[in-house]
Amino acid sequence: MKVLKFGGTSVGSADRILQTIECVRATPDCGAVVVSALSGVTDELMRLGALASAGDSGFSLILSELQNRHFKAIEQLIAPATRGRTLAWVKSTLNELEEAVHGVFVLRECSPKTSDYILSFGERLSAFIIAAACVDKGFPAEYVDAREMILTDDHFGNAEFYPEASAERICARIKASQGLPIVTGFIAATLDGRTTTLGRGGSDLTVSIIGAALAVEEIEIWTDVDGIMTADPRLVPTAFPIDHLTYEEAMELSHFGAKIIYPPTIQPALKKGIPIRIKNTMNPSFPGSVIGGSQKTERLVTGISSISQVAFLRVQGLGMQGVAGTSKRVFTALADHAISVILITQASSEHTICFSVMPDKAEEARKAIDQEFEHEIARQLLEPVVVEKDLSILSVVGEQMRHMPGLGGRVFTALGANGINVVAIAQGSSELNISVVISAQDRKKALNAVHDALFLSDLRTAHIFLVGDGLIGTTLLKQLAESRESLTSRYHLNLQVTGITNTRFMALSEAGISALKATEAAEKEPASIDEFVNIMLGFNLPHSIFVDCTASEALPQRYGKILDANISVVTPNKRALTGSLKGYSDLKTVERRRNVHFLYETCVGAGLPIIGTLNDLVKSGDEIFSVEAVLSGTLSYLFNNYRAGVSFAETVKRAQELGYTEPDPRDDLSGRDVGRKLLILAREIGYQLEENEVSVEDLVPAPAAAAKTVPEFYERLQEQENIFSAKLSEANESGGKLVYLASVSKGRAEAKLSIIGADHPFYGLSGSDNIVAFTTKRYSTRPLVVKGPGAGPEVTAAGVLADIIRVVQ
Ligand code: ADP
Ligand code: ASP
Ligand code: MG
Repeated sequence: MKVLKFGGTSVGSADRILQTIECVRATPDCGAVVVSALSGVTDELMRLGALASAGDSGFSLILSELQNRHFKAIEQLIAPATRGRTLAWVKSTLNELEEAVHGVFVLRECSPKTSDYILSFGERLSAFIIAAACVDKGFPAEYVDAREMILTDDHFGNAEFYPEASAERICARIKASQGLPIVTGFIAATLDGRTTTLGRGGSDLTVSIIGAALAVEEIEIWTDVDGIMTADPRLVPTAFPIDHLTYEEAMELSHFGAKIIYPPTIQPALKKGIPIRIKNTMNPSFPGSVIGGSQKTERLVTGISSISQVAFLRVQGLGMQGVAGTSKRVFTALADHAISVILITQASSEHTICFSVMPDKAEEARKAIDQEFEHEIARQLLEPVVVEKDLSILSVVGEQMRHMPGLGGRVFTALGANGINVVAIAQGSSELNISVVISAQDRKKALNAVHDALFLSDLRTAHIFLVGDGLIGTTLLKQLAESRESLTSRYHLNLQVTGITNTRFMALSEAGISALKATEAAEKEPASIDEFVNIMLGFNLPHSIFVDCTASEALPQRYGKILDANISVVTPNKRALTGSLKGYSDLKTVERRRNVHFLYETCVGAGLPIIGTLNDLVKSGDEIFSVEAVLSGTLSYLFNNYRAGVSFAETVKRAQELGYTEPDPRDDLSGRDVGRKLLILAREIGYQLEENEVSVEDLVPAPAAAAKTVPEFYERLQEQENIFSAKLSEANESGGKLVYLASVSKGRAEAKLSIIGADHPFYGLSGSDNIVAFTTKRYSTRPLVVKGPGAGPEVTAAGVLADIIRVVQ
């Protein structure tokens, strides 16, 4: 035989109740069904009591809403011909409720005893209606009030049941039932017949008590999810159902906040060795999760749960060291006030004892301990208790955890990498549970980061927040889409675009955005960069990366704040690196302090591995003597193609036609862009330079610089041909070649038109390639050379993508 329980979520509406009845019908060996109140009704009844006792007549509105809701369910579930009896019963039961509430209103008092009586109506109404609906759908069922069977002490609100006395009555009552018993969950009665409740979520316990009494072969708890998941699915989208778990694991998980099952439920089932299966009313064919049972598992970690709000209290002082009995006094004082302690830690220095309690008990706990240690505090042997609030507990649970060294390391690495500060750590001596206390604000991020690290170590999700959907931005998104499959299968990476913005629109969604442009995103709204950054920070998602694909000067000013929130920054935007030296160093400092990444490989030579190579050399202990480079594709093309017979102006024009120059070629010829790249290289080597300390030769002759338009610029440049032809002849005569050479050495950084000899590594440069040569202690006779196309959206976007992958790996 089995006994089934359907929670409020399974009996929330007439449709759900019909599904529930079908699930019951499909279980031929079902001996009893326990039901909760319709979803939300218990909360409404609590509100009813609170309003009435506060003298607020608003309670009558709640009463009429409750009546409407139950009447509507009856109308939808039961045929008109047979409906009358049920309606009459419900009406008279609601009258009883009204009388009780009226009493509370008059007396302005709702004792725990009265509250339990008021709450009992939720389950009584639902069970009666469901029993009637079963009969209406053609199978015999009978309404059973659990108060006839389950006996408890008089601890109203959270009563303790008497197993033997209850079992006897349960067996007798179930046996006597005409048809399938539909039993009220949650409620019970004292020995003298007063109504009690088993605590919020207590219907789970009801079915366990009944199952144990009847010694059934399985207890089934039906709800709205596929079973106990590896984490709360509302907070962790990648959570998945656990097929088997031990009673102890279920107890630990539910104790630490997994709302799915009421913790005391485990005890009666465990005592009798009855497995509990959790199933989904909306997906009945899915096997669900089994707690207990014979199946063994190899899994190391079972699940992660959390408590959203706890208070953390610290008792500290030198007077504690070596004094036996301090902790006894702390916890006895708490026990005397019936304050339950969720977690305890004590440093081996015996200087502090810390523990967590629910926030509504914090003040009482503080007072109790301060009072207990009144004399020690007066003599300054102990400090008054310190209370910290707005904290959460995250717990990793698993029976096999004790066999896996380094698991704690994985948890703390995941937390650390995401900037989550750990306030306290506790590991149960059973090693079934590692718990950490963190800021409540970080709870969701921490759950996801730890879940990813422990369960999906094979697939890591990173969240990309992209600013700028111009040529580079959209090319990046295309490349991301194209490489999605190989990133997942080969590198176990899921790079999700979670936010995108241009100057007009922005779109942000935790579930990801598929559009290539903000303007085309379904989620789009008017853009505001500050809002975009704030929403990103508010999401507080693990592995977040801010990607700036703009040339904006204002955006880099926000990098510091972003890095400080443990979000890595990847950008091809040179502005952040060429501003003041202080700004540059500040960013580097935050990057180091926060242990995040600030990557900008594409700022110099687009996709060419220049900054990475330089950093690798420095990191591996090499010493950089000098760097020489051609850092502009335009200038490279110009001097690779400028030869006798064609003027320099004509060569520039040709380059422009081929798309190698800026709209105004003077932006290339001025050397400013090269100067900036050079500044970045110099700073990477460690030179403390400002932009004006980089010497840059401007190739635009004064008359050409003064030209008002581009055509006029070409005319003026043509008139100055002799400047360039003279240089060219000088180069030719010496058997050398012209290059616009950028160099860093001996503390100086300069860029100028130079002649190089045939033995120089740049002599063979062709097309519009960039080239960089590093002369170092290790590469002293022949330099280390990096060469290739140093511009273009494809290679730049690919370089940005490579940086993103570097962040995640
Ligand atoms: P019922 O009304 O059926 O008793 P509850 O609302 O009490 O249902 O519990 C089910 C809910 O518990 C699920 O909808 C889910 O959102 C939440 N939950 C929290 N943690 C977990 C977890 N680890 N596994 C599954 N569900 C969880
Ligand atoms: N209806 C009760 C509650 O909401 C009991 C239950 O649903 O388990 O707490
Ligand atoms: Mg529940």
